[in-house]
Amino acid sequence: MELDVLHVGGKSDQCRALAAATNRRLRSRGLGDHAVVVSDGPMALSHEVLDAVVTAAWALGAMPGTLSKMERAKEVPVGVARMIRNPGLRTDEQKQRGRKRIARMKADGTTRGGGTKPAFITAAQLGLSFQNVFGAKGVVFRGAGHYTAGRRVPNATELAKEMRTDHAFHKGKGWGGLSYEAMIADDGTIGFGNPVSRKSAAVMATNTGLVNICCPGTTGDRMTAAQKASVRWLMDNWHTAAVPSVHRLPKPARELGWNGHRFYPGQSTDCPGVMIEDYREIWK
Ligand SMILES: [Zn+2]
Repeated sequence: MELDVLHVGGKSDQCRALAAATNRRLRSRGLGDHAVVVSDGPMALSHEVLDAVVTAAWALGAMPGTLSKMERAKEVPVGVARMIRNPGLRTDEQKQRGRKRIARMKADGTTRGGGTKPAFITAAQLGLSFQNVFGAKGVVFRGAGHYTAGRRVPNATELAKEMRTDHAFHKGKGWGGLSYEAMIADDGTIGFGNPVSRKSAAVMATNTGLVNICCPGTTGDRMTAAQKASVRWLMDNWHTAAVPSVHRLPKPARELGWNGHRFYPGQSTDCPGVMIEDYREIWK
C-alpha cells in the first residue's frame, strides 16, 4: 500500500491504521499510557495522536532529528508510518537505538532526551490557585531566566515553601499568582508553578508568549550541578509527556528565544545576577 505524509488536521483511513499500530507498539513496550483512542472509519491526525506517534517512533529507535522534525512540521513522514506499521523493516541501528531507549526508560522513567528525569512538585500538589488577570499567554516563543533575589532553596520541602511564599507575594501585587512556570531547587527538584497557558507578570511589558525559569538565589550565587542538569533537562524534555500536561510546553524549549530577565528591553533589575553565565552555557 502507498503511504502518504500525514499532517495534523488531516483525516484518513491511513491515520486510523497508523493510530492502531501506534497503540500496539506502545503497549508492547510498556508505554500503554501514551496510547490514543482509535475511532471507527477515517480518523484525524490530532496533536494527541501525533504525540503518541512520536513516542512510538522514539521507542522504535527513530533518529532524534526525525522526532524533532515531526514535532516542528506537525506531520508524520512516510518512513515513520512505515516503521510503526512494520517494525521488522527497521535497520539494525534503529532496532538497537530503540532497545537502549526502552532499557533507559525502565531504569529512570525518561521517555525523551538525555539524563535522568528530575523530581517534580506541582502547583496542584501545593494547592496554588491562579487567576487570569493578563489574559492568555498567546503563542509561546520566548523564555527568560531568573533568580529570586532571595535565599537559596536546598530541596523539595524548601522549594514548596518558597513557591507558596512567591505565589502569595505575586498574588498580592495583583498579578494573579506565581509568575514562574518552573522553579528549581539546589538539589535539582523542579517545581512547576504558573500553568503554561496563563500569561504571567515576570518581565515587564514582555510577558506575551513568554515562559520563565527561576533558580532561587541572589547576587553572586551560581547554579549547582544538579540545578544545571534540571535546567538542561527542561530544555530537552519540557514539551514531552514526561511533564504534566498543564505545565507542558507546546514546542521544544530549545526552539524558543532565551534571555536573562535584565536583558529584555526596559528592565531595571540585576536578575538573574551571575547565574546568567550558567543559563547561557545551557541555552547555547
Ligand atoms: Zn527576574
